[in-house]
Amino acid sequence: MSDTTSTGPWTGRLNTLNGQPKVQVSELHKSFGDNHVLRGIDLTINEGEVVAVIGPSGSGKSTLLRCLNKLEEVTSGTVSVDGEDLTDKKVDLDRVRQRIGMVFQHFNLFPHMTVLENITLAPIQLGKLKPAEAKARAIELLERVGLAEKAEAKPASLSGGQKQRVAIARALAMDPEIMLFDEATSALDPEMVGEVLQVIRGLATSGMTMVLVTHEMGFAREVSDRVVFMADGVIVEQGAPTELFGNPTQERTRDFLSKVL
Ligand code: ADP
Ligand code: MG
Repeated sequence: MSDTTSTGPWTGRLNTLNGQPKVQVSELHKSFGDNHVLRGIDLTINEGEVVAVIGPSGSGKSTLLRCLNKLEEVTSGTVSVDGEDLTDKKVDLDRVRQRIGMVFQHFNLFPHMTVLENITLAPIQLGKLKPAEAKARAIELLERVGLAEKAEAKPASLSGGQKQRVAIARALAMDPEIMLFDEATSALDPEMVGEVLQVIRGLATSGMTMVLVTHEMGFAREVSDRVVFMADGVIVEQGAPTELFGNPTQERTRDFLSKVL
């Protein structure tokens, strides 16, 4: 019925009007010492596409995300954005991180700074915005994540869900072209998951190119254009959410889904 089983470049339905390849990962390998974690990842992410990455713990999902924005150096293979190879040693790290925002499980806000200062720090330090512009932009972003009244608060006074929404606003302050989320809701109390997913959902709807590593299968199904199932450092199977969840073709995928669904 479908061609969803593939470890090669995605050839299925395109999400957006343009759908140009935005990120191309090719033959990516990553080892930590003897631990060969990523074992040949080929993945294309189209402009405006929302890709959910699922898979067992330890399968290399976080490592893959970290290789996408140069938080890890790859062992071999390439990661290109708009055709530019980011794995090239000459590529400027600041510029890469400007283009590719990341939100982590633990929010990593600076505790001694206000919410507003957390959000304006990078754009000001990297010379992207003047202080007044950075502040105006931060307020706009806080409104977008529903936290306008928290601009002067310190992170310690916020709930987990609020902190994560600030972390998302902070990543957006750099005007990234791509957003990476690594289990952004995993550290949250259950009653706070919804408010963070709501912000991520809004971003997805706005056309942002996104890669979400998530344990929230219902959310992956609802919000993503494509689901990638990883295990043991390879992409086992990928496809549209209805197909991957409804009709997985690989035993490994079925086994995983039977445990988490
Ligand atoms: P996942 O996110 O799917 O749970 P990870 O990418 O975090 O998987 O981890 C995959 C493997 O890589 C694990 O065996 C982990 O111990 C190893 N690993 C991840 N980061 C590092 C690191 N910085 N140093 C050494 N080993 C690491
Ligand atoms: Mg992880």
